[in-house]
Amino acid sequence: MTLLKEKIEKLPSLRTTVEAYGLIAKKALGQNFLLDRNITDKIIRLSLGAQKLSDFSGSDVFEVGSGPGGLTRAIFSAEPNHLTVVEMDERCIAIAQDIQSLAPDRMDIINGDALKVDFSTIGHTPRHIISNLPYNVSVPLLFGWLKSMGCFQSLTLMFQKEVADRILAPIKTKDYGRVSILSQLQCSVEKLMDVSPDCFVPAPKVWSSVLLFRPLEKLLTEDQIVKIEKLTQIVFAQRRKMIRQSLKGFATLESAAQKANILLTMRPEEITPQQFLLLAENLL
Ligand code: SAM
Repeated sequence: MTLLKEKIEKLPSLRTTVEAYGLIAKKALGQNFLLDRNITDKIIRLSLGAQKLSDFSGSDVFEVGSGPGGLTRAIFSAEPNHLTVVEMDERCIAIAQDIQSLAPDRMDIINGDALKVDFSTIGHTPRHIISNLPYNVSVPLLFGWLKSMGCFQSLTLMFQKEVADRILAPIKTKDYGRVSILSQLQCSVEKLMDVSPDCFVPAPKVWSSVLLFRPLEKLLTEDQIVKIEKLTQIVFAQRRKMIRQSLKGFATLESAAQKANILLTMRPEEITPQQFLLLAENLL
């Protein structure tokens, strides 16, 4: 057992910690806590295994929303070079500080809104983000990270299962949409596990899923991302309409669609991410 792991083992149990700090979950902050060590350890084990890593040594890891610290403990036990935790809820900062005190020079705590923190400029590559995401901001956070995917080696993220299904959705399914397209253009995405509601305190109404995102070799340029976002926003606002209708304001639609091998009678859910990229480049 490593030194850090040994120290973490000696911390009071998560339930004792939650009681000692009187931490009661707040719905407005998307708080559904993981107090079962089997689950938090499994998330890290599966993420490392899928990446063929034995630990996070040499890496900078970022966690959004440490809460009572279960996942933080599991991450820290995997020996990252450095861990940065961003937590909005002041009540959870003292709990994170207890973990930080085990190796102060290897952990930073930011008490703030993760939507306002640019992880791509903090620390060094390889960077990994790991989070049981607050469900109310999970998609905006993901969009932000996807846009700077070149700065990350992996994202290991827990979403509500319905959101995870949208991210993984193939074309011609009702779940396919903007988040599937940007995710699949930037990353290989795989599901690591589904998690039942009764693993959380309090139990949410729905299942959750943990996904692993890894950057593809060829990433989109900033300009391509802007165009993809604009195009998908327009067509998915009217997802039942043929693109002939939703894009009728564009004079070059016919030639752009031809170059992307798209028929004007297609609906957005029939168009692959790669075709969207070609269409966006030729149309906008
Ligand atoms: N990691 C903990 C766990 O697994 O038990 C907590 C997960 S809970 C689903 C989400 C956490 O994110 C909460 O601790 C919440 O306070 C925090 N949070 C919510 N919105 C946030 C934001 N915009 N920026 C940073 N943290 C946020």
